[in-house]
Amino acid sequence: MAYSIPLFNLNFDEREALAAYDTIQSGWISTGPKNEELEKMFVDMWHVGYAVSVTNCTAALHICCIVCDLGPGDEVLVPSLTFAASVNCIRYAGATPVFCDIIGPEHINIDPKEIEKKITHKTKAIVVVHMAGFPAQMDEIMAISRKHNLKVIEDACHGPLSEYKDRKLGTIGDCAAFSFFSNKNISTGEGGMFITNNEEMAKKARLLRSHGMTTMSYQRASGHATTYDILELGYNYRMDDIRAAIAIEQLKKLPTDLETRIKVRQRYVENLSKVKGVVVPFADNKEFVSNYIMPVVLAEGDASYRDAIRDKIHVAGIQTSVHYPAVHRFSIYKGFCAELPQTDFVTDHEITLPMYAALTMDQVDSVCSVLESVIK
Ligand SMILES: *Cc1c(COP(=O)(O)O)cnc(C)c1O
Repeated sequence: MAYSIPLFNLNFDEREALAAYDTIQSGWISTGPKNEELEKMFVDMWHVGYAVSVTNCTAALHICCIVCDLGPGDEVLVPSLTFAASVNCIRYAGATPVFCDIIGPEHINIDPKEIEKKITHKTKAIVVVHMAGFPAQMDEIMAISRKHNLKVIEDACHGPLSEYKDRKLGTIGDCAAFSFFSNKNISTGEGGMFITNNEEMAKKARLLRSHGMTTMSYQRASGHATTYDILELGYNYRMDDIRAAIAIEQLKKLPTDLETRIKVRQRYVENLSKVKGVVVPFADNKEFVSNYIMPVVLAEGDASYRDAIRDKIHVAGIQTSVHYPAVHRFSIYKGFCAELPQTDFVTDHEITLPMYAALTMDQVDSVCSVLESVIK
């Protein structure tokens, strides 16, 4: 069934199509000048030292774990209310994820108090996820990390250009990962970015992205290098120039796209503040944020009540989702059990409503009135 109001819509037009076409015409389609240009845009727009483009955010997160020296015997604190990749990357590096609860329905990011409680002599790092693009409590988290000498990896997939106290998300911890998957704020189909202010980490990330090789095909093709050495056990995590060209167009549009999303979000918050039984997470946020998604949390009922509400919304032609089915409940994480009451509550009560720049105020009103009428 085609929804009259989908969850998400691509902010694509002929600019993305032409960028891809021009790159194909240029004769160089693998990692090359378009990736360089995209990385430079990230460095400039994020005011960050280094940016390394990669195939997807999962690859960027894997690289984060390696450059933070995580390995067997190390424990890494991570929320369970996230996409599985935030947790899987820890295991790719051979380290052990330790789940931390979120603060609650009003603030669905990792709880700094939980972080302090779960620190052991084995703890080496924290993976922070900025849900929906709203900043986690970074002052508290960075203070804890300094006290216990922990690395901080920001999974900033939801928060391109989101801010926390005048700093961009992704530039506060040691390193960060962004996604250009098709439903993210920047869409290229697949794609991602690793960023850091640490020169050593950036150098290593660049090696890991391409088999640990000291030069890339483009440098050899353009006569800047004739041979190479292999310094690290690397991967093929490169993004091609066709996608990078699309990402450049997406990044140019991003500031305006986010300004429009802020208006959509404001309309939702205004409408939903009058609806009993619905909690809007981060309702008190004053920061500039990306509004990647529009999560709401039902105050009553259980998971089957929430699912029944979603079904009724879908009948009205409106698509919804759940962010997220908690990771600790998946079969492969059964052995990593933890008591996470706030995460359990939110994962059973959350509904993600449509969010994109092209949503009209009438459509937002209509989503809100459908939600209100099916809750009653
Ligand atoms: C989308 C997403 C990822 C994975 O990104 P890919 O680019 O698909 O690998 C990781 N973490 C979070 C929080 C995400 O939303």
